[in-house]
Parts: sequence; structure tokens; C-alpha cells
Amino acid sequence: MTNAEIVALTAAHEVGIYARLPVAFVRGRGCELWDADGRRYLDLFAGVAVMSLGHGHPAVVEAIRAQAGELLHVSNHYHTRPGAELAALLCRLSFAERVFLCNSGAEANEAAMKLARRWGAAHGGRFEILATTGSFHGRTFATLTATGQERYHRGFQPLLPGVRLVPYDDLPAMRAAVRAETVAVMVEPIQGEGGVTTPRPDYLPGLRRLCDERGLLLILDEIQTGLGRTGRLFAHEAAGIVPDIMTLAKALGGGLPIGAMLTSARVAEALSPGAHGTTFGGNPVACAAAIAATTALARPELLEHVQAMGAHLRAGLEALGRRRGRIQAVRGAGLLLGAVLDGPGAPVVRRCLERGLLVNCTAERVLRLTPPLVITRAELDEGLGLLEQALVEAA
Ligand SMILES: *Cc1c(COP(=O)(O)O)cnc(C)c1O
Repeated sequence: MTNAEIVALTAAHEVGIYARLPVAFVRGRGCELWDADGRRYLDLFAGVAVMSLGHGHPAVVEAIRAQAGELLHVSNHYHTRPGAELAALLCRLSFAERVFLCNSGAEANEAAMKLARRWGAAHGGRFEILATTGSFHGRTFATLTATGQERYHRGFQPLLPGVRLVPYDDLPAMRAAVRAETVAVMVEPIQGEGGVTTPRPDYLPGLRRLCDERGLLLILDEIQTGLGRTGRLFAHEAAGIVPDIMTLAKALGGGLPIGAMLTSARVAEALSPGAHGTTFGGNPVACAAAIAATTALARPELLEHVQAMGAHLRAGLEALGRRRGRIQAVRGAGLLLGAVLDGPGAPVVRRCLERGLLVNCTAERVLRLTPPLVITRAELDEGLGLLEQALVEAA
């Protein structure tokens, strides 16, 4: 089938919720993708920061192949070795002592919010979760309520009671928002979907202090920032703090759908047998992929590479801005970078696609670059060259 045939088949049958670009991909290797017409693309998007190890990573592919031949699913009525080993690995690599495995980011955040409610019920009858404006936490009703962007809410009201939005990167506002019924504060270390919005360095430490003082749980949504994306294994490490609850997904499964909610033993006690669950959570194939991916992403050499490539890409974008004037600011950390444009980003994304470059635009005019973390300097330079041409054409 050609691009055009696949695009037409989708359009004729799919619920129209995705503003898809008119291209169908059939194969990927590293930072390269090929479409159904045989055309090559350089991928600086990595499927929304999912393909952090690039496409077709041998360790991930082999882990999936081996596990698929052994066992696909048995349910959480039983144990499996991949599930046990993944939970142990995530605890070893983080502050956490307990893990809940699920299938997506929204499901991990949903679990975090339910855990906070249960914990609050047992600690003073508190229930309110404070989230932030500009955030993105998912599309289920609870996570949608915590998502501080009006356009995602439209037509879905009434949303979940007991969730309130507070301006992001505003410690005094968060401090003032805490009430007797408040039990948790939920934020992203960097708001990815919201425009790669990067808070001041004292924001996360300030939230940690506030939560400690008022007996609140600090929930960090590291679904996009986690697992090496910012040049640290977890973004909160740069702030020198630990959360009470952290959620992961996106890069976790090396391309397979999986999410995780991580917490301390003390907080996890609030969830007793039967309190929560999910049929596919801890699926052996997804867990085998996640063990392979997480092991590769946690290597110190890879994290150093992300810092070096992040600095290179940032410098390249800043230089491009000085030459062409269309980039007003570059923000983010590691290889989660946003170039704030002087106008709409959609035409630039289109031009890039025509030139064989995949980039993303979020928050109307922020070009979001989230390449595979294994990207080379030469590939980044190729991407910067294509982006420069696209910026000039779309001006
Ligand atoms: C992508 C994302 C989610 C939602 O994950 P899904 O797997 O799409 O449900 C939640 N939070 C953040 C920060 C994300 O980037």
C-alpha cells in the first residue's frame, strides 16, 4: 500500500481525533524512518519521546522476540518473572520501594491520584489534589481534570471534583492554595506538552518543602521527562529532591505500551488487595521490553551523551535563531528542547516533513524536539540544516 492508500483507509474508518500528517511509516532504524512510498526521514520526534533508544534497538527487539515465544499473558492472579524483575529494577534505580505496573501514562497518573486519595482518606480525611495550569497528565477523566489546558476540557464537563489548578512555577500561589482538605501536589518537572515550559530551579525544591511542612504528597509526572530524556535518569535528580510518587510511561517500554507508578513503602500501604488493578498491567512482553529499555537508558555513558547532544542541539538552535531571527527562545533540558517561534509552528512542521524531517509543534508556536537519545552529532547537524531551510520557507 502507498502513503495515499493508507491515509485514505484511515480517514474512511477511524474516529477523527488525530490531526495526522499525511504519511504512513513502515520501517525504522535508529533515528531514521521510511514511509510506505520508500522515502527516508530523520526522526527528531521519536514518537513523542517514546523511542529514546531509536527504532529497532537490538536489545529491545530481542527481549520482545524471546518473551513472545515463551509467554504472552497470564493475568495478575499470578506472578511472572518479567514483572517481578522490572519492579525490582525500577526500585533499584529510583527513590521508590513499591511499583504498580499499568499500560499507559494516563493510567499511571490515574493510579497516582487514586493512591493520593486513599492515603488522604487514612490521613485526616483529605482528598484534594492541586495540579497546575499548562500541564498535561492524560485523557482519562481524572487526569484530564488535572490537565491545566482549557482546550482539552471543552465539552467534557463536569470533570472530577477535588482537583484544583494553580499557576505553574508559582510557589506563593501553590502555598496559598493549600487547604485543610488538600492531600497532594501534582506537577511535571518540565511541562512537555504544555510547551516545554521549564520552571525556575527553586520550584521543585520549594514544592518539596511545602509538601513536607503541610503533610502533602508530592506527585511528579515524569512520563515525558523521565528515563534519561533530560540528561538525568529522572529530571527531579537535578533539583536534589525526591517525590513521594512518580509516574513513568513513554520511553519505559522501548516502544511497547507500559506505564508505572512508583512510590515509597509507607505511602503504598494505603492501597490494599483489591483496591486497584488492571488486566494487562505487568504484561510479560511489555515488561521484558521495559527491562531491556530501562537498562540501556540508565547507562551513565548514555546520560552523558544526552547532556552533550542536548547542549549541541540547544547551541545549534540558538545560532539558527541569531541567523534567521524566527526563534525567540530555546528552553528545556537535555534532549527535551522547545524552540519558541515568532509565529505558528504548524507550517514549519509541514515544511520539515516535506524535507524529510520529523519535528513536533506544541502550544501553537513551540517547536518541540525530542529525538532518540542515541542520536549522533552528525544527525543533529543534518536536522538543524533541514530545519533552517524549513524555517526560511515557512516564513
Ligand atoms: C504523554 C504524557 C501523559 C499521558 O500518557 P498516555 O500514555 O498518552 O496516557 C501524561 N503525562 C505526561 C507528562 C505526558 O507527556
